[in-house]
Amino acid sequence: MDKTLAGTSAAFIGLDIGNTRLTVGAADADGCLLLTEERSAPRGAESALPVLLAMARSAASALRTQGRRVAGLGLGFGGPVDYAGQRTRGSFHSPGWVDVPLAEFFASELRIPALLDNDANAGGLAEALFGAGRRHRVVLYVNVGTGIGGAIVIEGTVHRGATSSAGEIGHVVLDPEGPVCNCGKRGCLEAFAAGSALERMASEAGLSLTGRETMAAAEQGDVVCRAIVEQAAGHLGLAIANAVSLLDPDIVVPGGGVPLAGEVWWTPLREAFSRQVVPAAARTRLAPAELGYHAGVLGAAALGMQAAEGKGLPT
Ligand SMILES: [Zn+2]
Repeated sequence: MDKTLAGTSAAFIGLDIGNTRLTVGAADADGCLLLTEERSAPRGAESALPVLLAMARSAASALRTQGRRVAGLGLGFGGPVDYAGQRTRGSFHSPGWVDVPLAEFFASELRIPALLDNDANAGGLAEALFGAGRRHRVVLYVNVGTGIGGAIVIEGTVHRGATSSAGEIGHVVLDPEGPVCNCGKRGCLEAFAAGSALERMASEAGLSLTGRETMAAAEQGDVVCRAIVEQAAGHLGLAIANAVSLLDPDIVVPGGGVPLAGEVWWTPLREAFSRQVVPAAARTRLAPAELGYHAGVLGAAALGMQAAEGKGLPT
């Protein structure tokens, strides 16, 4: 931690830009959440931007009233991001988000350093700095919700790769003949193990259940739903085993809604993982994310912190 940012006065604003929800939050240098506010996301970038700006301005003014110095702002975007160019690449769910220079916009409007990344990298950074991955050198974060995102965090900095695509474990192909994925390819991990995949498998079994309902029924002992959840967790265990064989992280941190299913999901995940990972890494820790609902906004605030520190900036 840069000494100038230590102490109680500096605060970092985080904006989490989801498909249906916009959240603003702020954290201090220790990752303590200072405030949060949530609004439903208007459709399209053109309508969302003024709302986001108003939310950021109101957070900044609330922080200043508390005697805080607003030192940086981070943005976690729910879609692909060109990190080097600090622009959104587009959204699978909402129009107008192609090539939006979000960081530059907020930096010039609020006159503070700003940094943009996708929401999975933001969430992973938060878990690595403040959550289950703290005190670990190499953290692999896997967010399992409606879709599957991931992040590789090495010594407190996100490893983004040559094209900002590192950590995209959700689109690692497990079976080229498998079900169609949201990205257009076939047989990605996301198509086998995300919440939406649970829903698809339930429907194929003649059940009209959401992913969440499928998990709940599995926890209550429903045999069909249990088999579905075990199959999905098994696919994730395989993908994590492959990623660990390549990366050898200190810890793997599954987060998002699906890991909340409990042992009905975790047991087959761990079994598939230890069966398929390189033997030397079989004891790699798999530990649940700790920041829960606020991981996204804390991650965005962590990006704001890195903007202020000049850490991990695009080159
Ligand atoms: Zn895919």
